[in-house]
Amino acid sequence: MRVGVIGGGVVGLATAWYLGKLGADPVVVEAGAVGGGCSRGNNGWVCPSVSTPLPAPGLTAKSLVWMLRRASHFHIPAAALPRLAPWLLRFRAHCTTAARTHGIRALASLNTVTGKLYDELAADGVEFERGRSGILFAYRDPALRGEKVEGLEAVGASGGASWRNLDRDELYEMEPLLRPGFTCGIHVETDRHVRPESLTEGLAASLRAGGTEIHEGTMVLGFEWEGAGSRVRAIVTSRGDLEVDAVVLAAGAQTGPLARMAGWRIPITAGKGYSVTIERPSRQLRQPLFLGDARVGMTPFRDALRFGGTMELSGVNRRMDTARVRALRRAVSRYVDIPEAQAGGRAWVGMRPMVPDTLPVIGRLPSRENVYVNTGHQMLGVTLAPGSGWALAGLVVEGRAGVEVGAFGAGRF
Ligand SMILES: Cc1cc2nc3c(=O)[nH]c(=O)nc-3n(C[C@H](O)[C@H](O)[C@H](O)COP(=O)(O)OP(=O)(O)OC[C@H]3O[C@@H](n4cnc5c(N)ncnc54)[C@H](O)[C@@H]3O)c2cc1C
Repeated sequence: MRVGVIGGGVVGLATAWYLGKLGADPVVVEAGAVGGGCSRGNNGWVCPSVSTPLPAPGLTAKSLVWMLRRASHFHIPAAALPRLAPWLLRFRAHCTTAARTHGIRALASLNTVTGKLYDELAADGVEFERGRSGILFAYRDPALRGEKVEGLEAVGASGGASWRNLDRDELYEMEPLLRPGFTCGIHVETDRHVRPESLTEGLAASLRAGGTEIHEGTMVLGFEWEGAGSRVRAIVTSRGDLEVDAVVLAAGAQTGPLARMAGWRIPITAGKGYSVTIERPSRQLRQPLFLGDARVGMTPFRDALRFGGTMELSGVNRRMDTARVRALRRAVSRYVDIPEAQAGGRAWVGMRPMVPDTLPVIGRLPSRENVYVNTGHQMLGVTLAPGSGWALAGLVVEGRAGVEVGAFGAGRF
């Protein structure tokens, strides 16, 4: 069974990898270079403890006004509002306790396989940089830790994370580079991290070694249909047609137009985020760190340090707002003693794939018999890629996912 996987990000590559493992013959089609999209400069946290959707109860008109400010962590430029309004209204409809509880359960359930699948990938010979020192959450405002504990308890109740509360001294002992003023922290021992570029490179190398074709620099332009249009027969690309028995749309934030060509509307937009990577920093963190008051994540890699965050809804584009990068640098310099944070390193922008309930979209498109989708992983694509890749490959090849994915169907739109 030849399955075309559109998109060579972490989600597409993981899907192709599990398709191959289940005996299918995947072929990956990537417009740019594999791992060159959102899967590149992210923080690389594998964090089932953060199994939480974004819409939260209590979103008010006031908070929407706050989001219009350019310095806000969650920012919507005023110019983007008219086009985004329908998406935002749907997002707002999910800001209820019931929707949040449903979302946490669904994400935590998918994440029950995450650690095991990451271990298996490594055991199966996929080479990537990974760390198991947990993630340290640091707070100046103790109320923020309270909110985090509530989230952890909700996830923990579904069988997720194990963590430890830290007082001020314990926090500074774990991370001496924190500047003065922090009051408390949490160490989530069960979370891990990977260097995301090494993961996509490792998956691609393993796929190629197994004989999988990966077509880089190849844009998917459309499809050819058979059976009165109910089944895809070939993928039309900028370099010719590829005959396939099934297709998986895994094009991240750019999946919307592809799904439309297959007769289904997925309301997907980009949640832009920024990061800065400092190669060989003069000082290094002891473990990944979340600066709770600034909402910035930091990850120490073998030869580099990366910090990233912010959520900007300004449409599907890779425009970099340098003012937001400066704000990110200022936040890190204010809270952590890393000399290069202010001006050094390389800035990056990535588009998180986001649908209004911010849950992934995993399953077959109701409009076609053999077109599937795997996207919408918002802030958790690295965390969820093995689980959702494995689940989708199971659906395509065996007709069952192996883990509960009912909440993620494309039919919900
Ligand atoms: C600042 C930041 C920090 C983050 N930190 C974390 C983290 O710590 N942990 C975590 O789990 N997640 C994190 N994320 C989220 C994570 O990066 C994303 O969820 C994930 O990378 C999405 O992967 P993807 O494969 O769906 O998309 P992408 O990596 O964007 O891949 C999609 C690919 O599809 C290709 N494509 C699009 N259209 C076409 C077409 N028509 N034809 C062919 N190819 C096409 C694109 O070129 C692209 O390479 C972070 C994101 C950001 C922005």
